[in-house]
Amino acid sequence: MLRRAPAQAATARIIRRDRTVTGFRQKVRIEWLPVPSNKPESVVIIGAGVTGLSTAFHLVEKGVESVTVIDKGTVGGGSSLQSGGIITMLMATVTEVRARAIALDIFERFSGILDGYHFHQVGCLNLFTEEVFSQNAALREMWLRNGGQFDILRGAEISDRFPDLEAADSDYGILDHRSGFSEPHHYVAALKAKLEEMGVDIRENESVIGFEVRGDRVREVVTVAGSIDVPAYEMNGPEFHIGELQPHPDALPFIEENLIERTSLLEGAEWDYHTVGLISLAHDVKPVIGPVPGVDGLYVGAHFHSGGFAYNPVSGLMLAEHVVDGGTSIDTEMYNPARFGSIDTEAFLSSPVMHSEMGITRH
Ligand SMILES: Cc1cc2nc3c(=O)[nH]c(=O)nc-3n(C[C@H](O)[C@H](O)[C@H](O)COP(=O)(O)OP(=O)(O)OC[C@H]3O[C@@H](n4cnc5c(N)ncnc54)[C@H](O)[C@@H]3O)c2cc1C
Repeated sequence: MLRRAPAQAATARIIRRDRTVTGFRQKVRIEWLPVPSNKPESVVIIGAGVTGLSTAFHLVEKGVESVTVIDKGTVGGGSSLQSGGIITMLMATVTEVRARAIALDIFERFSGILDGYHFHQVGCLNLFTEEVFSQNAALREMWLRNGGQFDILRGAEISDRFPDLEAADSDYGILDHRSGFSEPHHYVAALKAKLEEMGVDIRENESVIGFEVRGDRVREVVTVAGSIDVPAYEMNGPEFHIGELQPHPDALPFIEENLIERTSLLEGAEWDYHTVGLISLAHDVKPVIGPVPGVDGLYVGAHFHSGGFAYNPVSGLMLAEHVVDGGTSIDTEMYNPARFGSIDTEAFLSSPVMHSEMGITRH
């Protein structure tokens, strides 16, 4: 995401689009004019997944006049429409719990203001073995201190509350009352319609292929405007479309085999649909949200592992806060892109990291 004013200096930029500059390439030119505010006059967001859409929403709410969202494919066509749309707020750290609590506030609000979207606040049941449950007492205290609202269920109490679920006497369940799920296709369509109503310019099928940085500041966003004949250079690795992925043939049998003893509902059930997508993750398997060090005007919101849907309303708010306010309303240091300063990026990217090597992560 690119904003058109530095956090400290009292300047803003005007974008002029020039479709003729380089034939098929479209340049979004950024110029600087002095104005007495940190609020940028316009912002370009790259990626119309839930993170980009939510960022656009919050930027407009914060008074940014011109917001453009550009996607190389169609709105939601990355991971967002593949998501299960499940959210829980009972996370491992204070920052994550606080962030998810705000995400839940926003899902509740969106349920009221986005036509065609409903947040199913049915709760989220997390199952634990006795051993894991007994190790998590401090975590439960932390959840309570930070607004968590949950019941602890043991053995038969779980099946009493959820008759379709088989529970062993030694099982523990934590039922997170504020949480639930959304249907991503309803959410994405409703948010897109809202943004159009708010005047956001959403441009599909237009790859961003690079930025032009002069000095320490982003000056231009370069896109390929529509033509597949253009030999675009790659900004983020090989060209890839989510439609190329096929679900693993063993996935559904694996789920059935492992979950059927938990719920007889699965016996002989037919699946309505089966999605597959990519999850992306950073070195420490935590989201990356905030200003990119050394490049003024460039912000990133990415690497949400399997929790980016749950994060999106608040990650979009945080990005808008970074851009307009110069910082976030809650402490979000753990998401700061600058935390990777001492990491050998090339070494990290050059060898595969197995999921099992990452330790336990909850998303
Ligand atoms: C099968 C599956 C199930 C999941 N279930 C859940 C769940 O239950 N709960 C949960 O919280 N999360 C879940 N997730 C994770 C969640 O879907 C993602 O974390 C989230 O959608 C990320 O959103 P995003 O907007 O950051 O990325 P994306 O939705 O991937 O959006 C990025 C966009 O950027 C565009 N783009 C990329 N490069 C360029 C370029 N050069 N120029 C222009 N546009 C570009 C892409 O086309 C894409 O549309 C699941 C993921 C998968 C795959």
